[in-house]
Amino acid sequence: MNDWSISENARALHQDALVWDCHSCLPLSPDIDLGVLARHKKAGVDFVSINVGMDMNPLGDVMRVLAGFRTWLRAHQDGYVLAGSVADVRQAKKDGKLAVAFDLEGSVPLSGETEMVRLFHDLGVRQIHLAYNRNNDAGGGCHDDDIGLTEFGHRVVAAINDAGMLMDCSHTGHRTSLDIMAASAMPVIFSHSNARALVDHGRNITDEQIDACVKTGGVIGVNGVGRFLGDEHAGTEAVLRHIDYLVERAGPDHVGLGIDYSYEMGVPSIPADTDRTYWWPKNAGYGGGAMKIAAPEQFPEITEGLLAHGHGEAGVRAILGGNFLRVAEAAWG
Ligand SMILES: [Zn+2]
Repeated sequence: MNDWSISENARALHQDALVWDCHSCLPLSPDIDLGVLARHKKAGVDFVSINVGMDMNPLGDVMRVLAGFRTWLRAHQDGYVLAGSVADVRQAKKDGKLAVAFDLEGSVPLSGETEMVRLFHDLGVRQIHLAYNRNNDAGGGCHDDDIGLTEFGHRVVAAINDAGMLMDCSHTGHRTSLDIMAASAMPVIFSHSNARALVDHGRNITDEQIDACVKTGGVIGVNGVGRFLGDEHAGTEAVLRHIDYLVERAGPDHVGLGIDYSYEMGVPSIPADTDRTYWWPKNAGYGGGAMKIAAPEQFPEITEGLLAHGHGEAGVRAILGGNFLRVAEAAWG
């Protein structure tokens, strides 16, 4: 039995609902123990997407991480499943296992080749956004000049649609995200993005982006990053505040969770010579101490809070995972 300190009502619902974390992070190192993800499972999470690379990670490092993570998951099939389909996710929940898929944060690892999209799909990647904070050859990042989707970017969007992956717009620049949402043949998600109307930070998304996402049939995953929530303690009430706003704006069928929890294991995720101030610019509100992120253990509290905020059982199930399940089913095929 779990040790969630929530009401019986919330406990039963949290246990039964399919809970989907659209984005969290492990150190990007091939030899780490993915068993730390047991914290997600203990918190009632059934699926988590973990990243295997960002725009600042050289392709060779991304490949080594993929090899390492895949090897670990193959050796631990008693508790974990590398999920390639929604059927895999449903089966994992039935079997009491944690379903895991990979995501890529940025299109630089595609090395200018759209064919790389399908290769990453075949290695277990099920979600990609095109630019990590800064502009690249596919389009704009959210902390850079606001350029549109490039000709290469248009071909990458089509390749992501064709390969059966989720088209993600978190970390992406404003214009590029709107171009992607207009171009994509499939629902587009923001895997981990909060509301700009509540906290004016470049990583948060505007009402225009929210409305465009809804038009694609997509889903916005609220993240637990204190700075983006507007709460340095990354408390559950702050997470709920962003969910409430998005439900009001987008409706309950277009909101989910991608808490962006970062498992710290004393292993760096980026090359030692990376210029951090380029990727996380000071004038965009970075720097100045550690950044608290909501922990997986807050998932049961989120369920209890959603009920307390009057979302109703069907709405809570949709927000916890039903919505991301729906768009994954459409995109992954
Ligand atoms: Zn991210």
